[in-house]
Amino acid sequence: MAKILDGKAVAAEIRSEVAAEVAELKSCDIPMRLDVVLVGDDPASATYVRMKQKDCAEVGIESMAHRFPASILQKELATLVERLNEDPAVSGFFIQLPLPDALDPLPLISSINPAKDVDGLSPLSAGRLAIGLPSLLPCTPHGIVQLLRRSNVELSGKEAVVIGRSNLVGKPLAQLLLRENATVTVCHSRTKNLAEVARRAEILVVAAGRREMIDAEHVREGAVVVDVGIHRRDGGGLVGDVRFEEVEPRAAWITPVPGGVGPMTRAMLLYNTVRAAQAAEDAGVG
Ligand code: NAD
Repeated sequence: MAKILDGKAVAAEIRSEVAAEVAELKSCDIPMRLDVVLVGDDPASATYVRMKQKDCAEVGIESMAHRFPASILQKELATLVERLNEDPAVSGFFIQLPLPDALDPLPLISSINPAKDVDGLSPLSAGRLAIGLPSLLPCTPHGIVQLLRRSNVELSGKEAVVIGRSNLVGKPLAQLLLRENATVTVCHSRTKNLAEVARRAEILVVAAGRREMIDAEHVREGAVVVDVGIHRRDGGGLVGDVRFEEVEPRAAWITPVPGGVGPMTRAMLLYNTVRAAQAAEDAGVG
């Protein structure tokens, strides 16, 4: 039977570390605020923003949401990004994605000051990660690496296979696993013989966004399996990209869905906010 990579417990541990740092920074009068830009009326985005603000409140970080109708103009959002970049009261901010179709997220994300880029998704942050410079790291991939490290899963020298090459998860995760000295293969929708490649993995991370696509055929005996996917089940509840019941008996470690990667993603946003506030203070900006 596989051991569970308990994202809920590890995220709670990170939140309590963050709360202690927040208390210490506040006692030195260091300002700390996470701002979020929410455009349109997508209910899932509204829920995510609510959850993130609740997380902030729990660890003592102030948060502010800037809400706009889908009719807002690109240039108005660009002006807001500039204002948030300049505002010393704002430690970090992010734009909740996806944006409505009429808006182009890339120029906006590209203009976020990397020191405040708590999602770690700007081209500058991605470039710094790729060449090994310090930066705020994207929350989901960083959360996965933290979950593995804090569960004492060895990464150095291991054969890692990442399924998915998005800018949000797959690509930055591949960079982070390289940084941990894993040997990394990245698969995607055009990969041939996916099951054969996936079976090479000692560490298999699935971020394809395809409901329960990974079965026992894709998994090497004794592998560590991380399921990033989130899909709503018809009858309620969530499932991932991995068929948990089928894969679990073959794996050494496995993440549940829910309770695996999701809570880690949320915790790393708090972590990044504190890093940004601390860095601003160290740079004499705050
Ligand atoms: P995406 O759609 O941007 O990227 C999916 C990637 O998977 C693409 O690179 C694509 O080439 C690859 N892919 C698609 N079908 C494939 C197939 N049949 N075989 C091999 N590769 C295939 O998605 P994303 O933003 O990277 O998210 C992936 C999943 O992770 C989604 O289910 C998303 O909801 C979930 N997600 C979860 C969290 C979390 O905190 N748990 C965070 C981000 C994303």
